[in-house]
Amino acid sequence: DGEEEQSQDYLFKIVMIGDSAVGKSNLLARFARDEFYPNSKSTIGVEFQTQKMVIDGKEIKAQIWDTAGQERFRAVTSAYYRGAVGALLVYDISRRQTFESVSRWLNELHTHSDMNVVTILVGNKTDLANDREVTTAEGKALAEAQGLFFMETSALDSYNVRAAFQTVVKEIYDILS
Ligand code: GDP
Ligand code: MG
Repeated sequence: DGEEEQSQDYLFKIVMIGDSAVGKSNLLARFARDEFYPNSKSTIGVEFQTQKMVIDGKEIKAQIWDTAGQERFRAVTSAYYRGAVGALLVYDISRRQTFESVSRWLNELHTHSDMNVVTILVGNKTDLANDREVTTAEGKALAEAQGLFFMETSALDSYNVRAAFQTVVKEIYDILS
């Protein structure tokens, strides 16, 4: 009956990773609450946010984990990654250094979680087009080389934010169902 259907719902743990200030917390705030913080500090991060989504008529709960700024000290713990089935690996298209860090984050992800964790590489802050330091082609090429999904986003403009989260959730669902 209906209640039994409910108990078969899905819960996917998804982690936000990437250098400090690339926009992880604002991507989550935009996705979950349609909010944006122009001068956010690391303290706005909640531990995780649960977002309901419907895919193929099935209700899915995406439990999306955000850091509280500990990535600044390269101190994201294994507990953060434990049980994750998806990841958004975010860099800032206006700061090349954050793109150079992507391989380090991938190593960390693969050290602490399953190799098969569904990962999307996200180039955030497309609204800063005049300050762009990483081309779309570079992002795409890196994603292809590493077997990742890829999307550019703007948490400020609400560009592709929902699509980025949906891509990960849909792929996890397709693998598990
Ligand atoms: P986190 O450290 O990765 O969680 O980054 P935050 O979400 O705290 O964002 C760091 C700074 O970048 C804040 O001042 C945000 O307002 C800003 N920011 C986040 N996303 C965007 C975006 O898409 N465009 C612009 N222009 N700024 C953004
Ligand atoms: Mg944050």
